[in-house]
Amino acid sequence: MENHNPDCIFCRIVKGEIPAEVIYRNDHVLAFRDIAPAAPSHALIIPQEHIASLSELEERHRDIAASLMLAAGTVADILGIRESGYRFVFNSGADAMQSVFHIHGHLLGGRQMGWPPFPGEAVLHG
Ligand code: AMP
Repeated sequence: MENHNPDCIFCRIVKGEIPAEVIYRNDHVLAFRDIAPAAPSHALIIPQEHIASLSELEERHRDIAASLMLAAGTVADILGIRESGYRFVFNSGADAMQSVFHIHGHLLGGRQMGWPPFPGEAVLHG
């Protein structure tokens, strides 16, 4: 596979070396259940190619980026939350608390959520 990183846990899931509850797969992406769900329905949608974070996405990844977004609705359908609603979140970098450095979108649903991320706090910058 192009750009496989043997030290990356999500690359190893793509290769089947580490077990995961796979929900959906196509030529570009893989979706599986998060091991520590933060919502009643919590899936991760990842590119099969190793790309460390959103900040590493390049023009040549256009098809992969499109596949990630398009997979959200498909996976939401499989999880039964397409109609009730869901959030699709990409943590990128330290401030966002990204902990696995292989792009993954968190697809979260199955309950009412809040917005904004820091209710009651003033926006200090920008
Ligand atoms: P983030 O903090 O945005 O990088 O999210 C990483 C996510 O990966 C967390 O929600 C973890 O629970 C999840 N995770 C880590 N290892 C695994 C695994 N082996 N299988 C499924 N989910 C995992």
